[in-house]
Parts: sequence; C-alpha cells; structure tokens
Amino acid sequence: MTNPVCPECCSEYVRRVRREGMGERLLSIFYVYPFSCQLCGERFSFFQRGVRYVRIDEEQRLYQRSPVNFPIAFANDEVTGKGRVGDISMGGCTVQTDAQMAKGAIFHLSLCIQDAVSTIKIDAARVRNVQLDRVGLEFLKFQKSERERLQNLVRGLLFARQGEKKATFDEAR
Ligand SMILES: [Zn+2]
Repeated sequence: MTNPVCPECCSEYVRRVRREGMGERLLSIFYVYPFSCQLCGERFSFFQRGVRYVRIDEEQRLYQRSPVNFPIAFANDEVTGKGRVGDISMGGCTVQTDAQMAKGAIFHLSLCIQDAVSTIKIDAARVRNVQLDRVGLEFLKFQKSERERLQNLVRGLLFARQGEKKATFDEAR
C-alpha cells in the first residue's frame, strides 16, 4: 500500500479528514479519500487501492493535536497573561491559564518552546472555547518564519508519536 504524501510540501504527516459533499462521497467508493497535510494545511485526494475506511467522527478536526507542556505568554489591549500549552497543531493549541480569555477575543502569543531562546510568536489567535481554566485557541496569523518554526516543532512531535506507535505495535507482537 502506498502512503499518502502531501502534494504541496511533500510531508508524510497527513491524515484522513471527513468527506465533504457528494463528489467526495462518490470518490470514496473508488478508494479515493480526502486528506489534510498536518504541516501546510493542504487538502487533497488520494487513491488507496483496496483500503476501506470506517467512518470515524473524531477525524473531523483538520489538524490532529499533539500533547505538549511548555509555557505561553499572551496579550491583547486589555488582558496580559501566562499559562501552559497542553496540546498543539498547526491550527491551534489548548492553554491552561487563570487569566480571563473571553470567547472570540484575539490575542498575540509567545510560545516558549524548550527554552527561553526559542520562542515562536503568533501574531493573532482567536479564543474558540473556554472550559474552566482550559482555553482553546485557533491560530489566525503568523509571519512566514514563525510558521516554519512551528512546522518544525509539529513535525518533531508527529515524528515522535509515530515512533511511539511503532514501539507499542512491536511490543504487542
Ligand atoms: Zn503539506
């Protein structure tokens, strides 16, 4: 079986996403499925002969988030705060914080990955949902260089997870 690769950036970190519309439903009969690149966001169709997927609702999210734990600082005109990032993808992250982050508010973010030197700046992120002290953020805007650094981080996380999966599989055999 050939694994799908992103036609835009050649990344192998792609995941199947929900079929949208009649066209994609029809195509899936012929083993052509929609995928989304986890690094550049490209959505594409890929032919996998003989592969039948069952419908899984949790795959609706375009980007799969990886668990992490590093500090974050955020600010807008009214609120400045700090917290910890619990998971992240190219599309957004979940932050644990005591600060007031209202749904719909826009913040700029500094993700303090690994050490204080390597900070990734996000120019604009929107609060998607708030549950007690857990805040879901969607990344809206970043500089190209920051986007590339975020891609490197996410690629590393996905690579590590792939390794974990393989290890579990080997143990199970
Ligand atoms: Zn890509």
